[in-house]
Amino acid sequence: MNGLMQAQQLTTAMLIRHAATNHPQREIVSRGADGALARSNWRTVERHARHIAAGLADLGLKPGDRVATLAWNRLPHLELYYGVSGAGMVLHTVNPRLFPEQIRYIIDHGGARILCVDADLLPIIEPLLADLPKIERVIVLADQADMPETRIADPISYQSLIGGPSAIAAWPDIDENSASALCYTSGTTGNPKGVLYSHRSTVLHAMSALANDSMSLGAADSILVVTPLFHVNAWGIPYSAAMAGSKLVLPGSALDPVSLYELMRDEGVTFSLGVPTIWFAFLDHLERERAIEDRQALKLDRIFTGGAATPRSLIERFRSLLGVETMQAWGMTETSPVATVCRPLAHHADLSDADQIDLRALQGRSVFGVELRIEDEDGHELPRDGEAAGLLKVRGPWVLNAYHGQPAGSALDAGGWFDTGDVAKIDPDGFLQITDRAKDVIKSGGEWISSIDLENAAVAHPKVAEAAVIGVAHPKWQERPLLLVQLHPGETCTKEEVMEHLADKVARWWLPDDVIFVEELPHTATGKLLKTELRKRHGDHFAAAADAVS
Ligand code: AMP
Repeated sequence: MNGLMQAQQLTTAMLIRHAATNHPQREIVSRGADGALARSNWRTVERHARHIAAGLADLGLKPGDRVATLAWNRLPHLELYYGVSGAGMVLHTVNPRLFPEQIRYIIDHGGARILCVDADLLPIIEPLLADLPKIERVIVLADQADMPETRIADPISYQSLIGGPSAIAAWPDIDENSASALCYTSGTTGNPKGVLYSHRSTVLHAMSALANDSMSLGAADSILVVTPLFHVNAWGIPYSAAMAGSKLVLPGSALDPVSLYELMRDEGVTFSLGVPTIWFAFLDHLERERAIEDRQALKLDRIFTGGAATPRSLIERFRSLLGVETMQAWGMTETSPVATVCRPLAHHADLSDADQIDLRALQGRSVFGVELRIEDEDGHELPRDGEAAGLLKVRGPWVLNAYHGQPAGSALDAGGWFDTGDVAKIDPDGFLQITDRAKDVIKSGGEWISSIDLENAAVAHPKVAEAAVIGVAHPKWQERPLLLVQLHPGETCTKEEVMEHLADKVARWWLPDDVIFVEELPHTATGKLLKTELRKRHGDHFAAAADAVS
């Protein structure tokens, strides 16, 4: 017997219609390339999105066609999110910080017919266009009067797309299982792989973010979107903010601490999200250059971090400087991305401050809909005892089943689980602790050493700005940890000082065999430590040291 409820399809159009109807005046603030702020609202975003839908159809695009974007967190990019997918086409967001060849590969592999690009990113795309035969037209995200000189043939201005008389009257019916957006993994090794989100997975993921034990978003929130719109759909914020009716603050390309501080202060920001490296720079700025009254001027209520492990020191500093709690989340491009979020349980209420910070340094518990499992190398499930570390697998309605262009189900094992490539522990309360990427774990004398734990311990030293630990080949132990440290500007420190600091924080046999001080650590285009590069640079460190001694 079927239930007698309306089988309304879950689509992105449903989200923007809701925001335009129920939160029409809620503001969207966007910082342009020149630093000027543009102000719009959900009603106008929806109207512009209907113009985009009509304009793309006029250009000959059909449902399922891809539209690529190379753009910062600005208003046009947000409007494209809804205009493109609401019309049944697929929004393919591309990361402009990648190497040119990766950008070319990703756009070509995604198969877009139209490319939308911010005017300040044109120099990246101009030299690549000759090798992108599938791109038919380029839309420059600028007003007609501001169209830059370009050697691209027949560029269309964004203004002509949204300013013309034609707009679709109503959003078309779309099957909720059809694709809405495409995003590529950052791929530190091999070619990046495409993850194709559906309307249904997008709406369910967005709804999950609103839950109290996830981002806990509401209409009263003002959200500073630090996470790029080209990185896993800014962790779903454009969708969940429309569902909640929140205000959005889009910082453009300026993610420096001064710009972020000013936007937070002036736009009454209550919630923000981003990778830990951004927040370290922000807290350094607050600590060194802002008076107490400046800090008190912020309305910030909570910070959501992810993309890399959040060190204890970050959580501690947000608390002591701003009285703000950090919520760490774990996820990946393949999981839309939010899969776990760290919020305390009732029985944690009486924990000491230090224990609460320890708790928040975990990756958290699965949100409803996502299942987790850890396995040993033979595929046997490991206990949730907080001790056993194994390969982390996930499944759920917003976890991928195959990469773009691969047969359905090909990314899953026989039980329907997706292997994340992360190594983790799960404790009896269900709290996940990521100890490493499987390829970064340090295998020493038959045991595993967690590079993440060592890095977190190292950055707790007040002089250390960032730390990376890699496993380096060792003649006796197979691998031993090598610690690379970037100090805060102007600081000096010795190897002995660092080792002494680590001595009571990790097991003796985990202590790194050497410490190297570096000017700067390399990062991927999404802000993660680029360990492949570090292994290339320092992979023979212990062999070289042994040679030097002999
Ligand atoms: P991406 O697909 O680029 O978002 O990268 C996903 C990967 O980032 C995961 O597989 C993890 O290795 C890492 N990651 C994301 N969030 C966290 C976190 N909170 N702690 C540790 N690693 C994380």
